[in-house]
Amino acid sequence: MLYKAQINDYGLDDWVMEFHEIYGAVNKDRTLESVWLHAIEDASQLHEDLRIGEYYNALGHIADIFCWLCAFTMKAHSDLGTKESLLDIVLCKYPRYCFYCQSSPCICSAIIGRGIEDRTKKEQQKKYRLQRTAVERARLHQNGYEPKSLQEIVEMYRTIYDAINFRTPLEIIMAHLQEEVGEVASALNDIIDYPERRFNDEYKQELEHEIADVITWVVALILKFDYLLTAGAVYQIRTGEIPDDGKLANYLEKHSLGITLSSVLWTRFQTPDGNALWCPNCKERPCNLKLLR
Ligand SMILES: [Zn+2]
Ligand SMILES: [Zn+2]
Repeated sequence: MLYKAQINDYGLDDWVMEFHEIYGAVNKDRTLESVWLHAIEDASQLHEDLRIGEYYNALGHIADIFCWLCAFTMKAHSDLGTKESLLDIVLCKYPRYCFYCQSSPCICSAIIGRGIEDRTKKEQQKKYRLQRTAVERARLHQNGYEPKSLQEIVEMYRTIYDAINFRTPLEIIMAHLQEEVGEVASALNDIIDYPERRFNDEYKQELEHEIADVITWVVALILKFDYLLTAGAVYQIRTGEIPDDGKLANYLEKHSLGITLSSVLWTRFQTPDGNALWCPNCKERPCNLKLLR
């Protein structure tokens, strides 16, 4: 069980366990596909929130997608034998650098389109990336340099993708997230159409990579909200709505909505006294929903 006082210390896998405590019994009766249908539903609702400017609801739907992703990670582990740890899944694709350009900060936009159309080369590049990423991921573990808290994961992504997230519009970041949510669905369709693939290690790794990509874009949205909040404050200083005493940092510290992934998750699932988490729909812990079987 997570406690408000330590909210900033919890890591990705602590959150996976927390949501498992709340929803594990209900999700046991769901299929892997039905868990992901919920993530797709929430991604669509999030997309609508952004289109109509309902930003408060948008943060709630980001939390819901994250919660479904936690459930999906656990279920994919038990059903398909993918990795149990969501942190491990993330670091096996993003060991503190971008998987595609193998750099931090990411330099993908500078190299895109240069020779990657060659099919053989593309395969070679992928093999090289996978090998190097596996080495780097193991090194993070050996050196004790794994991001521990959820915020450290967010900061890892900020370091890799700061420049890109900063200049990419919110709507495009949402489109990327929708794309990745759809790619997990494609991977699920694959094993419905070709059931033997579920035993294939390459398939499992592809699915793990898609899960990691969903996290990447959930974090990108959170960071974008953070930038927009800052930009809003700068605008208000320029228009005189906030006195310009030259202390923007102080202002943000005092008035920031505190948009961090942990706070977004906490706000969505907190009990009325704010000290613990529960299911906000049935207002119980664990969730009392009974599914038709
Ligand atoms: Zn890159
Ligand atoms: Zn419930």
